[in-house]
Parts: sequence; C-alpha cells; structure tokens
Amino acid sequence: MAALGEATEQLNKIVDDGLCLGCGLCAAIAPEAIKMTRGEDGDLRPIANDQFDDEKMALVNQICPSLRIEGLPEDLASEAPHQDTVWGPYYEMSLAHSADANVRHEASTAGILTALAIYLLETNKVDAICHVKAADSPANFGVATISRTRQDVIEASGSRYGPTAALVDIESVLSSDENFALIAKPCDLNAMRNLAHIDSRVNQRISYWLTLLCGGFQPDASFNDFLRQNNLSKEGLSQVRYRGFGCPGPTSLTYEDGSKTSFHYLDFWGEDESQWSMPLRCKICADGIGEAADVVAGDAWQGASPDRVESETDKGFNSVITRTKKGQSLYQDAIGDGYITITDIVDRDYLSAVQPHQVTKKLAGQARVDGLRKAGSVAPEIVNMRADALSEMLGLDAFKEQKQGAFERANALKKQN
Ligand SMILES: Cc1cc2nc3c(=O)[nH]c(=O)nc-3n(C[C@H](O)[C@H](O)[C@H](O)COP(=O)(O)OP(=O)(O)OC[C@H]3O[C@@H](n4cnc5c(N)ncnc54)[C@H](O)[C@@H]3O)c2cc1C
Ligand code: SF4
Ligand code: SF4
Repeated sequence: MAALGEATEQLNKIVDDGLCLGCGLCAAIAPEAIKMTRGEDGDLRPIANDQFDDEKMALVNQICPSLRIEGLPEDLASEAPHQDTVWGPYYEMSLAHSADANVRHEASTAGILTALAIYLLETNKVDAICHVKAADSPANFGVATISRTRQDVIEASGSRYGPTAALVDIESVLSSDENFALIAKPCDLNAMRNLAHIDSRVNQRISYWLTLLCGGFQPDASFNDFLRQNNLSKEGLSQVRYRGFGCPGPTSLTYEDGSKTSFHYLDFWGEDESQWSMPLRCKICADGIGEAADVVAGDAWQGASPDRVESETDKGFNSVITRTKKGQSLYQDAIGDGYITITDIVDRDYLSAVQPHQVTKKLAGQARVDGLRKAGSVAPEIVNMRADALSEMLGLDAFKEQKQGAFERANALKKQN
C-alpha cells in the first residue's frame, strides 16, 4: 500500500487522537478531496483521497473545531452587559417555553429553538433554517437539513444525540443568495466562526446563530451497546426519537414491522451525568455552553438530570441565554409577538445549578487541552474564552489533576488504536 501523504496523516491524526467530532466542515470546504464516511468505529469521519494536499490541510487547520475553538467575535462579545468568567458574555438568562402547546410538547425540552426558527421564518427575518433532523439510516444518526416552513421546522425538532455531520452541506447555504439562521451544536458554531475569518460569505448568509447547551454526543458504539444490553437489534430499526413528546419524554425505538420500544431518559442515559457515554472530544470540550451563538437553549433540571416522578407531568422549561444584542432583540420580539412565553429571569448561579457539568468542563478546559498536548495528541487552541481566568478559578491542584486525567485518557486511546 502506498504511504499516506503528510496532509492526510495530519487529518487522520485528528481522528485517531479522538478529537474529530464529525462536523463535516472539512468535507464541505474541500469536497473533491474529503468525503464524510463512517469510520471503523461506526462514527462519521473525514476520509481524504489523493486530491488532498498541504494547501487543503492548511485550510482544515484554520477551520477545524478540534484545532481551534472561538466564541463570539470580539465586537459582539464586548457589547454584552454581563461578562461572566464561567458563562461568558450574555444579555439575559431566563426560563421560557414555546407559546404553542404542541411545539412545546413535541420539541426536545420546551421548544424554544423551534419557536425561534418558526418566528424567524414567519416574520421573514430569514429565508430558511439550516439545522438537522433524524437520518433515515442509521436511524440513531442525524442529518443536515434546510427548513423553509413551520412544518419542516417542527419535523426537525428534538435532540439528535447520535453522530451528525451538521455542516457537511454548508456550501449550499454559503453559495446561495438567501439569508439563513443556523441551529447547530456549540462545536459546529465554533467551526463556522473559524470559517468566518477566511470566508466572508459566512456572515453575509448566516443572520442568526442559535445553539443548544451540549454535554456531548453519543458515539454509534455506545448506542449499539445499549441495544445489546437490552436484547434489541439494529436490524430493521427505522426511527429513533431520543426525547420530546413530554420533557424529557421517552427515548423511543421504532422498527420497520411497526413494533416500538420506549425507555425513560434516565434508563437510556443513566441516572446522572457520570454515566453519559461520549467521545474524547466531548470530554475535553471547552465550549458546551454555546459561546459563539446569539441565543442558547438548554434544559433546566436541578443537577442536570430529570426526576423520574416529575418527568411524568413536566410540560418543559428551557433555560435560555441571550448573548448578543441581535439575539436579545430576537428573543424579546418573539416573546412580544406571542411565539415564546417567558416564565422567569434567572442568573448565573441558577444556570450553574442546572448545568453543573458545564461548569466543570468550562473550568477544566485549558487543563484538559494541556493534558492532550502532553500526551502528544492533537488539541484545540482556546481563543477569547477566558482560559487563563478559568484555570485560575479551578486552582492549581485541580488543574494538575484534570491535566493528568486528560493525559491518561489520551494515552489510553493511543494504546487502543
Ligand atoms: C448532543 C446533545 C447534547 C446535549 N446536552 C445537553 C446538556 O448537557 N444540557 C442541556 O441543558 N441540554 C443539552 N442538550 C440540549 C437539549 O437536549 C435541547 O436540545 C435544548 O434544550 C433545546 O431544546 P428545545 O426544546 O428548544 O429544542 P427543539 O425546539 O426541539 O429544537 C432542537 C433544535 O436543535 C437542532 N439539533 C438537534 N440535535 C442536533 C445536533 N446533534 N446537531 C445540530 N443541531 C441539532 C434541531 O435541528 C432543532 O432545530 C443537548 C442536545 C444535544 C443534541
Ligand atoms: S472539520 Fe469537523 S469533520 Fe473535519 S476533522 Fe475537524 S472535526 Fe472532524
Ligand atoms: S460536548 Fe462539545 S464537542 Fe461534544 S458535541 Fe457538544 S459542543 Fe460538540
């Protein structure tokens, strides 16, 4: 077999070191040289062909969210009235839900992202929404989609926890003459903020940046383990609805023969966040809180996990963070025009209580990155996200511990490969 070129080796190292999150942006900017394909582990990976060269790798180095994580551009970040070391720049934190009872019920938490997307379309603030929906196959994956109507948006509502290359088709957005809102995970938005530095079309075409609070996605192998543990097969699995139809609502698996099995969210994910299974990239994520977005929506359960009894009747409340003037205006207008119902103004302590894992990750971001570097792994540069202040807040002993933990994880992965 011919030796791989240096550029391909560099791209493969991002994957081999466990840092690729499968966003698809590298394939979008070099479609003739990179295809997103399922790798050996079953997840979505960039596979380079002989068209891939140093020039294209230089582009990947600039845009890949596993090599560089940036939040809002400085001018937008500095406008925000609140600058919190953990939570970043923001205008307001609140609890809210879609004013449409059906959207609230069907959506992942309480339908804030769906309500904002519908509002943007129905008030002609954008032509279309660029987001993701359930893939046809494998049914546990997500797939990029463009929504132009209320019905399209509702059909794509819900959380896609499986592998999802949200940005793989982004060139069709950038090369059009329409205005879009982008809804994607924080790391997808980090990638697009990177791309905005070298492609002026990004800020011309994407008018609104919306995201979710993100604790990590579920690798295909972990989903398969769950099926095995429950004596279920992937064969004939036609639909996976992770949550929604309540808050959080059941994780439902539907088969081609019409049979359906449902699990409580806590039986799918485990009783607390220590049991969540996620890739290395998510474990070291320094921005699960969506610092690149105009508006961020998440859950609002104390301690980050729902209560089994309360979840029987929970109608759903999103925690919402508005980060930019534009995001704050959009949110206020959507409330004023009856698309969103706000129930409480909350603060950073409330957010920290309902998202304790995000606080831990935020504080440990730089330490974990340093641990990866010490192990010789690829590691992201954290840009404009208070990495030094967060490390100081973490404290020296905890910093060393977190760095060592990441070092060991990275080494364990190297041995496994
Ligand atoms: C991988 C993952 C991890 C998460 N971890 C946390 C967490 O730790 N804490 C927390 O509070 N909330 C977490 N969430 C967010 C939570 O599940 C809800 O998505 C969020 O509260 C928004 O709720 P909503 O009712 O407004 O969403 P909806 O109105 O249902 O809208 C969801 C929107 O997000 C888009 N979307 C869904 N999945 C993806 C994906 N994989 N990639 C890109 N776009 C997507 C959909 O296209 C849709 O437009 C996570 C979500 C995901 C997908
Ligand atoms: S750009 Fe996205 S898909 Fe490509 S290597 Fe980086 S994380 Fe992976
Ligand atoms: S935890 Fe971070 S890297 Fe993982 S999916 Fe969420 S935003 Fe992306």
